[in-house]
Amino acid sequence: MKSKVLDWRKRLSWLGSIRHYAGHVLTLELRQHLSQERPQCWSDNLSWLPDYEYIFPEFLNSLISYYTHFKGFHGCRPLRVANYHEHGLLGQNSSILEGLFKEIFSDLPAQELEGVISQFERRGNQERGAIWLVGDDRYLVKECGHYLIQGSEYLMALAAHLDNPPDGEDYRFRLRNYGVPTILEVDIPVELVSPSQHAELAKMILSEWGQLASRRPLFFGDTPPCYVIRHDIPPEYIRGHYHPGLIIDPHQGHRLYSNPVSTCDVCG
Ligand SMILES: [Zn+2]
Repeated sequence: MKSKVLDWRKRLSWLGSIRHYAGHVLTLELRQHLSQERPQCWSDNLSWLPDYEYIFPEFLNSLISYYTHFKGFHGCRPLRVANYHEHGLLGQNSSILEGLFKEIFSDLPAQELEGVISQFERRGNQERGAIWLVGDDRYLVKECGHYLIQGSEYLMALAAHLDNPPDGEDYRFRLRNYGVPTILEVDIPVELVSPSQHAELAKMILSEWGQLASRRPLFFGDTPPCYVIRHDIPPEYIRGHYHPGLIIDPHQGHRLYSNPVSTCDVCG
């Protein structure tokens, strides 16, 4: 099957594709109706959509049958970018992150490191982190820079559970000295995305389409779709990566963080 990737950054492209998969529900008549009534086409309240009970599930179904992948971007700070190309993105299997943790804190007693890791193991997989991706890489740099600057949520949580030494080092900040701030570009197979996130995306697309049809833009910002994946993503879906030069640092008053590392073990 030929792959079709929905890239949220290419608005004109996915708006233009709607007629190929949903022309039977988003009809000319519906467009004319919206153009006359000019409702506010919100994404979280689809009451502007006539015959919502029929149109929405039909649209949703057509959307996820048409696309094979959703493009998503993942922010991280790996020691070895090659790990992603070899093993993919690992959500539930945290052994690579635990390996990094042991490497970064190798000056601490091994027993203490194992103790923190097993605390998290006992709590089950819930807190060990799913894989979090967004539809637009610019959003990662502007709004979620901490993943690029300090690394994954799980690594930060492990570091936060270590007993800080009496001289006052905050172990979480040590994470800033390791690894390379990296944005991975991933084509996520549609079936790895949960039904609730399919529905969320469908509502966002319907809202954008409706705003055009009604000629009534709502200007509620440009937050891209977010994909939380609770499976491993195999390496063949990783399309590439880069290292952003400037990142907004949410943990330091939204100052600009200048990334000192522009290459890695893969691109260097
Ligand atoms: Zn690189």
